[in-house]
Amino acid sequence: MNTVAIVPAAGRGERLGFGVPKALVPVRGSALLAHAVRGLLTAGCVRHVVVAAPPAEVESTAKLLADAGLPADVVPGGADRTDSVRRALRHALTAVPDARVVLVHDAARAFTPPQVIQAVVDAVLAGAPAVIPVLPMADTVKQVDAAGVVLATPDRAALRIVQTPQGFDAATLTRAYAAAGDSATDDAGLVEKLGVPVATVPGHPYAMKVTTPFDLAIAEAVLSAVEVS
Ligand code: C5P
Repeated sequence: MNTVAIVPAAGRGERLGFGVPKALVPVRGSALLAHAVRGLLTAGCVRHVVVAAPPAEVESTAKLLADAGLPADVVPGGADRTDSVRRALRHALTAVPDARVVLVHDAARAFTPPQVIQAVVDAVLAGAPAVIPVLPMADTVKQVDAAGVVLATPDRAALRIVQTPQGFDAATLTRAYAAAGDSATDDAGLVEKLGVPVATVPGHPYAMKVTTPFDLAIAEAVLSAVEVS
């Protein structure tokens, strides 16, 4: 196993209304972050997980994961997501110098099925420098101007919803982050900027991003479905 996974969770975003950062919001008794790390570790193909936490919460995050029986390194995040990923990437490649594959996962996609994680890793090991899990669009999408007036209707058949983990050949992600500015939100987008092709594999509805209280209710339902299956 030569895959490491990075989970940037150093944001203070409290938009879910629990008064704690989103990664710490509980779903059926465990923080989203713990579910996400458990998912990575139980997929069977990830050797080492590195979480970036708010600097003041490195110890409490490490304890939360240790108490849940989840071996992971927790490092202090940076000023923005890009900086947090950079720091976690440096740590991960120091801890596992022979890592070939780096996954970057979103703690809010805590219920990503193991087969999606495995498919991303397999595609990188098969030679793709960058791989993202995607789903087709169910809705029609419009491009609008600043006033909300429709400018264009992109062909839905050519559009995809992007999920995580995004997977990269370690050297490619290192190069992408060396060239990145300060405000990257999409790791694959950085690789695109290098002119390197980004491949896709099928995602899964359970890899949804928990962003709103509605999503949280769906996540509770997903977890109970997973637990009984
Ligand atoms: O706050 P925002 O929506 O940009 O955060 C996106 C993701 O990046 C979240 O998972 C958040 O925890 C992470 N992040 C981070 N370090 C920061 C800011 C955000 O790891 N300094």
